[in-house]
Amino acid sequence: MTLVVGVDIGGTKTSAGLVDSSGTLLAVRTQPTPAAQGPAAVLDTAVGLVGEVASGAGEITAVGVGSAGVVDPRRGVIVSATDAITGWAGTDLRGEVSRRLGLPVAVDNDVHAHALGEQWRGAAAGYADVLLVAVGTGIGASVVLGGRVLRGAHSVAGHAGHVPAVAAAGRPCPCGGHGHVEAVASGPAMLAEYRGRAAAAVLEPSGAPGLADVARLAAEGDRIAVSVLTGGAAALGSTIGGLMNVIDPEVVVVGGGVAACGELWWQALREGIAAEVLPALREVPVGPAALGGDAALLGAARMALEVAG
Ligand SMILES: [Zn+2]
Repeated sequence: MTLVVGVDIGGTKTSAGLVDSSGTLLAVRTQPTPAAQGPAAVLDTAVGLVGEVASGAGEITAVGVGSAGVVDPRRGVIVSATDAITGWAGTDLRGEVSRRLGLPVAVDNDVHAHALGEQWRGAAAGYADVLLVAVGTGIGASVVLGGRVLRGAHSVAGHAGHVPAVAAAGRPCPCGGHGHVEAVASGPAMLAEYRGRAAAAVLEPSGAPGLADVARLAAEGDRIAVSVLTGGAAALGSTIGGLMNVIDPEVVVVGGGVAACGELWWQALREGIAAEVLPALREVPVGPAALGGDAALLGAARMALEVAG
């Protein structure tokens, strides 16, 4: 059976997973990403993890890498990236990993890898047309049509966080623009909103709360927490509903840390979607991602299988 390695390079940690051609994850290794030390250190860490995870296994035929940032899979290069990894933009990801390992390498954006993993072995298994939305520090999406990732003309397709939203009007967005849904529905955006409103009402609990605290307070009926959480979820739901009207997916999968905020968040998300979708799309299933952090590893492995000799 063909063996490949999938790699997931994020701003805080890097993982490698040994995967066979049936999509079984056989071993995983993870290390902190040396993000402040620049591309060479990040590449060395990724390649080192590939060596560790493949050690003692049979012959590895290819490697797939999902990375943070805008990735051009045709040229194999990081087109642009946030400051999460110092100097990452411009890195010849495919060339450098391939040179270090002497193997064929496929690269893509980490959200696309996440979607391919969920479509192969997770919540979207058995569906060809998938909209995956990942909500965490930022909001990303991946559109899979006929089993192929939609990348667009500039490798930018899927940036669902940067769709205008009524609830975000006038608010600055991390992309440099204003009024995008990420400015109200991402984890940091909801947390900042809660902190601001709780401080104004002199309700700030001792110690700055995290998003999990806001979710817990909302479940306990705290009015500000409920308002912030359902407001963010409803705004994201509107965006997802609008995207569904354009894409017409068979299934919608929502993952990322914010999707763990509980039933109130999910209910508001579903209501936001229902308010926007055209009648023919009312029955499209919408549900949580199933594979957690394994999704990007499996998706990257699936990319590797496509270039395996
Ligand atoms: Zn934006």
